[in-house]
Amino acid sequence: MSSQAQTRTRAHQPCAACRMLRRRCDSNCMLAPYFPGDEAEKFFGVHKVFGASNVIRMIQMVDESKKEDAVKAIIYEATSRLRDPVYGSAGTIFHLQRMVEELKMQVESMRAQVVQLQEQRNQLLGILMNVRHLDSTSSVHDSKFDGGNFMLDEDSMAYDPMTFFTENDWTF
Ligand SMILES: [Zn+2]
Repeated sequence: MSSQAQTRTRAHQPCAACRMLRRRCDSNCMLAPYFPGDEAEKFFGVHKVFGASNVIRMIQMVDESKKEDAVKAIIYEATSRLRDPVYGSAGTIFHLQRMVEELKMQVESMRAQVVQLQEQRNQLLGILMNVRHLDSTSSVHDSKFDGGNFMLDEDSMAYDPMTFFTENDWTF
């Protein structure tokens, strides 16, 4: 149900604006759809910051379809102005922009950390692969020896132990 329809069902109640301005609220009241009688503080804020006649003028300036959003913006700005009379909603925007910048910097440093950790991981994986490679090559040797298939190559079989000693002139 839109706020306009809601207001129509309780048309007999004066809206918050008319109640505060002490005027008669009829079915043609411009402000009634946006400031129901039980939400007096909303109109109090916009009236204090902008003045009722300016609020009416602003609502009249926008298309029917955008009126509700316009009123929401007016109420938001009024609430911000009451809280921060100098900067209003701009103060909130600056604050949020600063937060966005800080968070961007955090994201950047997190990304750098991720890259660094990936490099470390790759280095460790490289070391691990080398260790495995060494392990597997030495186990191949082991199985050669253990399996009894160890063969001396031809050169090492080519010498006679006796001639080897004499030829090389060993002294004992
Ligand atoms: Zn009214």
